[in-house]
Amino acid sequence: MKPSTKAVHVGQEPDGLTGSVIPPIYQTTTFAQTAPGKPVSEFDYTRAGNPNFTNLEKTLAALEDARHATVFSSGLGALTSWVLAAGKGRIVTTKNIYGGTFRLLTAVFKNYGVEQTILDRHEPEHLIGAIKKNTKWILIESPTNPLLDIIDIRAVAKEAHKKGVRLIVDNTFATPILQKPIELGADVVLHSTTKYLGGHSDVVGGALITNDGSLKNEYDFFRKAVGVNPSPFDCWLVSRGLKTLVLRMGAHENNAGAIAHELKKSKLIRDVYYPGLTSHQGHDTAKKQMNGFGGIVSVRFQNPSQADRFVRKLKFFSLAESLGGVESLVCIPSKMTHASIPENERLKLGVDDALVRMSVGIEDKEDLLEDVRAALKSL
Ligand SMILES: *Cc1c(COP(=O)(O)O)cnc(C)c1O
Repeated sequence: MKPSTKAVHVGQEPDGLTGSVIPPIYQTTTFAQTAPGKPVSEFDYTRAGNPNFTNLEKTLAALEDARHATVFSSGLGALTSWVLAAGKGRIVTTKNIYGGTFRLLTAVFKNYGVEQTILDRHEPEHLIGAIKKNTKWILIESPTNPLLDIIDIRAVAKEAHKKGVRLIVDNTFATPILQKPIELGADVVLHSTTKYLGGHSDVVGGALITNDGSLKNEYDFFRKAVGVNPSPFDCWLVSRGLKTLVLRMGAHENNAGAIAHELKKSKLIRDVYYPGLTSHQGHDTAKKQMNGFGGIVSVRFQNPSQADRFVRKLKFFSLAESLGGVESLVCIPSKMTHASIPENERLKLGVDDALVRMSVGIEDKEDLLEDVRAALKSL
């Protein structure tokens, strides 16, 4: 079965009781039992499980070509359960991770004895070179945020496994339509379903996906034990969003590629970061491990005031954090998504005030190009 068929049909069978083509929202706290300790089905209390969780888990696992998924209240809820299941072994990661992930590791779990090595670099040799005796996991994102660097997932997985270390890949930016980390050797995939998977900027959610049944059991356990479960309605919204994921990713990419090439022509711009450009650092690796280059474009102006005026001038790009919705968004990472990182650290990551990140939506390509051209012209 191909991804567009999976997205519409897997986990979305018509309701057995009424024939309702769309599975209902099981907006219930608890499930009646026929005798003490004998619930009617596998469900007893929604913090532990709910049909809308299971439906979404089936679709997500199918899209990543994996056996199991567990859905959570948010991407960070999923990460919390992953860290708890990882136990006290050392985690190796890089500074080029989502700000909330960095904060969860350094401002929360560090205080609870979770050892971590957080590298400035993220090439496979640096990640593997940082492995110590007690290292259990490597955590990476590819493409990275906001500069869209590409990490060779297959190379990291292969070398990590030789040392008995497992790999989790945050696949939020690529989605399973453009990249399947488990096929490339990763042990676990993480998603913030808040972004492309939900796709309409109206829900917050997360997921962990794996082929390992014992990890799946641990993730289910920590969801219930810690209380990082999603709501049935939120899962239903993500299930609904997923049905158009293939179509949306095609449109995002088509628009983003056109905008990247348009920006590349401007003399006001020092650099355009988009994995689809042959000039991009990770273009060759991206071609090897991805089925497309995605919908995020970052751009560095000659100076901060140009960046500031550009984002104010755009008509169809709302100035907002987050990404992956049908509507175009733009942000200045140094002042928004990455504002909590100390300035010297931010600059080392290449996140200065002249850098703009665009989450290109699915509006008409010509309208978006016109908008970008007009904003550039006004500078
Ligand atoms: C948004 C995001 C997260 C966190 O997800 P939430 O749903 O906001 O908790 C994690 N990783 C990446 C790459 C993200 O973009």
